[in-house]
Amino acid sequence: MGLLQDKLSKFRLPQLYMEQGVYPYFREIDSHQDTEVIMDGKKVLMFGSNSYMGLTYDKRIIEAAIAATRKYGTGCAGSRFLNGTLDLHVQLEKELAEFVGKDDALVYSTGFTVNEGVVSCLTDRNDYIICDDRDHASIVDGRRLSFSTQLKYKHNDMEALEKELQKCKPESVKLIVVDGVFSMEGDLANLPEIVRLKEKYNASIMVDEAHGLGVFGHQGRGVCDHFGLTDQVDVIMGTFSKSLASIGGFVAADKDTINWLRHNSRSYIFSASNTPAATAAAREALHILKTEPERKANLWTITNYALDSFRQAGFEIGDTESPIIPLYVRDTDKTFEVTKLAFDEGIFINPVIPPACAPQDTLVRVALMATHTKEQVDYAVDKLTQCFKKLGILK
Ligand code: PMP
Repeated sequence: MGLLQDKLSKFRLPQLYMEQGVYPYFREIDSHQDTEVIMDGKKVLMFGSNSYMGLTYDKRIIEAAIAATRKYGTGCAGSRFLNGTLDLHVQLEKELAEFVGKDDALVYSTGFTVNEGVVSCLTDRNDYIICDDRDHASIVDGRRLSFSTQLKYKHNDMEALEKELQKCKPESVKLIVVDGVFSMEGDLANLPEIVRLKEKYNASIMVDEAHGLGVFGHQGRGVCDHFGLTDQVDVIMGTFSKSLASIGGFVAADKDTINWLRHNSRSYIFSASNTPAATAAAREALHILKTEPERKANLWTITNYALDSFRQAGFEIGDTESPIIPLYVRDTDKTFEVTKLAFDEGIFINPVIPPACAPQDTLVRVALMATHTKEQVDYAVDKLTQCFKKLGILK
């Protein structure tokens, strides 16, 4: 065995959890994903999906993906920069820019590569990137790839953000990058205050709308729209992998910013473009968001019902204001154990442990979809209460 294998073989953590029978990752699903899925021949209630609109099996979206595949084929065999641009990509970019309220947009192959390729290339050596310490991993990676000075502040702590801004040279670009909705805790960025500080210190703001799109704002335009601050936010990104029932992502901004990214963003230029099927599916889902407001209304009815139910049952759910409900466990082993107990009761939830959260903040993440019913929520609250009590997490 070489040195490399020798080193990697010491990584025993997954085996340890497998031996205890609580390893919670890569569980196989044998069906499409809605509020119920089939796993190992059994029905399981899905409370771990980001498909907030419940659209991943919508017949119209499926047909749009099939039609695009028939017309354009299964792949584009090249990057957007060269042979990979379809009229479909450009149409979707125009529609997304219009939807989120910016001049122009670019479609990437995943949301991850948007953050990686945008955050890394907007600023340079003399500049600063300032992040919330709970920002998504893709923002962290984008920040790490940049040549700028990297600063972080404690989650949503506006005094801490101001202190970081005071450290920056006034003449340098200062890019503040935040999740609009924090993906594990479900709370919102304090955008009104961030915008006030941006103006005070002549900074710029980029907001990740991965979990805001579809869920907040008029027709689901996102958290920036929800706060009425779209014009004050410089750069908006979103993904297709959640409310838009597909895979891919986009960035939207003013014409000059998009022109810069189009010719400099490495994950856009050096990676193959999004498939015709995924692009057409996202387009159709966007159309549905705009024309079927009842979906967002249903999502909020069930979200508010679930928030009340979990609170009343005594769960610690933090500051969430969204369909993402964190049930704090505050112990890694118990987080895995409770995930397994819930699964045995037919409930799929996701464990969240470091580096996705701080070590003392481990939790299981419950996520709602527009298609969940009150009966499903009641069942989950009841069974999760029993599981949490069994492990002494709930008294
Ligand atoms: N930003 C946030 C806040 C996310 O939660 C995610 C995905 N979980 C991404 C970006 C990356 O998006 P994608 O899965 O579409 O690559």
